[in-house]
Amino acid sequence: MSDYKLLIGGKLVPGDMTMDVINPATEEVLAACPRASEAQVNAAVAAAKAAFPGWAATPIAERKAALNKIADALEARTEEFARLLTQEQGKPLPEAMGEIQYSAAFFRYFATLDLPQETIEDNENRKVVTQRRPLGVVAAIIPWNFPVMIVAFKMPPALLAGNTMVIKPAPTTPLTTLKLGELLNEILPPGVVNIVTDANDLGHVLTKHPDVRKVSFTGSTDTGKKVMASAADTIKRITLELGGNDAAIVLGDADPKAAAPGIFGGAFFNAGQVCLAIKRVYAHESIYDQLCDELAKIADAAIVDDGLKQGTQIGPVQNRMQFEKLKGFLEDARASGRIVAGGTIPDQPGFFVRPTIVRDVSDGTKIVDEEQFGPILPIIKFSDADDALARANASPYGLGGSVWSADIDTAFDIASRMDTGTVWVNKHLDFGPNIPFGGAKQSGIGAEFGQEGLHEFTQLHVINMAR
Ligand code: NAD
Repeated sequence: MSDYKLLIGGKLVPGDMTMDVINPATEEVLAACPRASEAQVNAAVAAAKAAFPGWAATPIAERKAALNKIADALEARTEEFARLLTQEQGKPLPEAMGEIQYSAAFFRYFATLDLPQETIEDNENRKVVTQRRPLGVVAAIIPWNFPVMIVAFKMPPALLAGNTMVIKPAPTTPLTTLKLGELLNEILPPGVVNIVTDANDLGHVLTKHPDVRKVSFTGSTDTGKKVMASAADTIKRITLELGGNDAAIVLGDADPKAAAPGIFGGAFFNAGQVCLAIKRVYAHESIYDQLCDELAKIADAAIVDDGLKQGTQIGPVQNRMQFEKLKGFLEDARASGRIVAGGTIPDQPGFFVRPTIVRDVSDGTKIVDEEQFGPILPIIKFSDADDALARANASPYGLGGSVWSADIDTAFDIASRMDTGTVWVNKHLDFGPNIPFGGAKQSGIGAEFGQEGLHEFTQLHVINMAR
């Protein structure tokens, strides 16, 4: 019997099946988790559809109040949620606490936004107004790297705009989301949010369902392509937040010692399992050796252990599949460059990989060209900044990037020419609920956060009146 329940139509229900969730730090079964059947996914969509007219007609002030109540409830139970998050996802407890608190902040932020009717023309000939209407049932499909926060990226704007939802977490990290379902069930009317789980086998039921009007998807580019194809049949609205291969370009005038901690944090936060993590560094030849040494020093000192242990800085990677994939990247790194820190798998249970710095490596290798999504960072030498930029841009991905330099104007010029959704200068991985975020090229379609992100959950509606 599982302690966890699906949320369908305002009822906490067992799954038609169960599946085990593994703690990545111990490889032990953390919990038996309900696993939905296709019929339960369809029931969740039907419940969201039935709840839609009522929720759409609820005054926006009441919807905002509900978002603030969810933030209050999350904040009141931060520690409980964070412990469970660490156990199922692997991240260090302080980072899990941060994820819960930041999630609450997203609910609060969207509770401050509005969707006012706007008059775009009003004269003797005509009056034209625009409105933003809700779409209907939104499916939110979530990956395993930030299971709560990515729900918090999608749910507040979707609900504020008057939509109802079906949320599907990743199969290896469903527990915190199901726990959130218990809390939501005390705040929201039945059917406004429904939560179902799967074993990576029911996402398509949502993306092809005729009653789902929008899919907000975060995950890999390969799966994103399937989502897009599947949504085509009913011309669903889609937002895709996909993979990345962010480059950090470190110019010759940057101070390697000062830049190294920021670059390390940008690459190894959440054990490198961040869509917007630095996944390759291009360093100017004049500071190359020093930067590699500084990064190796930080990597060697990092404490890699169970995220529940005090002092742990880097937890395990989240699941066995990713762990095995990273072993392949390590082999490639060994063959195509020189590993100067890490490169080892600690001899203990759990999916642990020491933070790894790979130098003397170039483009055209797996570790540079592909998304590793783990704690392995290649450092590539360059002599000409425009050439480094061209190599950074020569990727099918275009999520984020950063430029590191003492000269802000030069950095800004390079940043302006980086073919990505976001570029940072002298930092990486700094974002906020009010700052729109989205990918270029095969890193995604559309934006999340801010007013732009909110608009993605609405239908533009124009009323044009004769005078
Ligand atoms: P994934 O694509 O394997 O899975 C993501 C979700 O899609 C899971 O819930 C999964 O069950 C579901 N899914 C699987 N097959 C499906 C299908 N055919 N139709 C619909 N849904 C399906 O990704 P992952 O391994 O969980 O996450 C890692 C990837 O996600 C990385 O590439 C990373 O860069 C990317 N990511 C992107 C962002 C971003 O905002 N751009 C954020 C986090 C992660």
